[in-house]
Amino acid sequence: MTSIQTKGIALITGASTGIGAIYADRLAKRGHDLILVARNKDRLASLARRIAGDTGRKVETVEADLTVAADLRRVGDILRTNAGISMLVNNAGVGATGPLVSSDVDKMDDMISLNVTALTRLTYAAAPGFVARGHGTIINISSIVAIAPEVLNGVYGGTKAFVLAFNHSLVHELADKGVRVQAVLPGATATEFWDVAGMPVHHLPQQMVMSANDLVDAALAGLDLGETVTIPSLPNQAEWDRYEAARRAMSDKISSAIPAPRYNLRNHERISA
Ligand code: NAP
Repeated sequence: MTSIQTKGIALITGASTGIGAIYADRLAKRGHDLILVARNKDRLASLARRIAGDTGRKVETVEADLTVAADLRRVGDILRTNAGISMLVNNAGVGATGPLVSSDVDKMDDMISLNVTALTRLTYAAAPGFVARGHGTIINISSIVAIAPEVLNGVYGGTKAFVLAFNHSLVHELADKGVRVQAVLPGATATEFWDVAGMPVHHLPQQMVMSANDLVDAALAGLDLGETVTIPSLPNQAEWDRYEAARRAMSDKISSAIPAPRYNLRNHERISA
């Protein structure tokens, strides 16, 4: 394979290990050149060497801490100026497992910076070019805690709910402009995420834990199917479809000049008038 017939460059954040490193491998095998972003320069370099050797694709690395404004701006500039980029995988993220009362609020703030602010800024950097060129793909790695925020740390759940809501709005705005948008909601996946979040993955029931290989292969199969939200572990897609249908049906009824009858405001006003 040569770099000449590229499917465009995929820029992947958090590509030094875990889910992002598997995306790098799979997207190179699908014919993408790569720009791999993370903090750990040595890990990035050895992954880039391995993938370039295996696939013949061009693989660049960018050492960046996406919670640092200057680094984030630098990666944003690459997305804004490199018209060869056809895919953004917003994957870098950290989690936490502790409850609110025992969590350090500064760490929560750092998590919001990476999971929400960086993802948002990089999407803003990439999307106008994709729209102008009439094609592009944005993959946003959310989590099942987006719809089950009681499971882990609440701020982590909140950040991933943001990613899902943002993804819905991106689909709404960009789908008819040739831009594919997909949110991926992994369940527990065997990566270093769990060590960083403070709970070793081997403490979880192993029947709940997917390999990063299977997770990414299922997520890419979901992308090929045209899914805008992919939950790799959910056996029955109809369950998600019903959940979404209920949300959309309710969204027609949740703004009104008249308070809901169950609050009895009309009666109350009459009595106190
Ligand atoms: P991981 O193995 O810990 O990998 C996280 C990646 O993000 C690494 O490449 C890390 O590289 C990078 N990263 C962390 N902080 C960064 C920063 N400040 N700036 C730039 N890069 C940074 O975790 P993972 O499981 O692959 O997680 C990937 C995504 O999946 C995350 O968004 C996570 O929330 C989501 N997810 C994971 C699970 C799970 O069970 N594993 C479940 C649901 C969702 P460096 O350390 O080199 O910077």
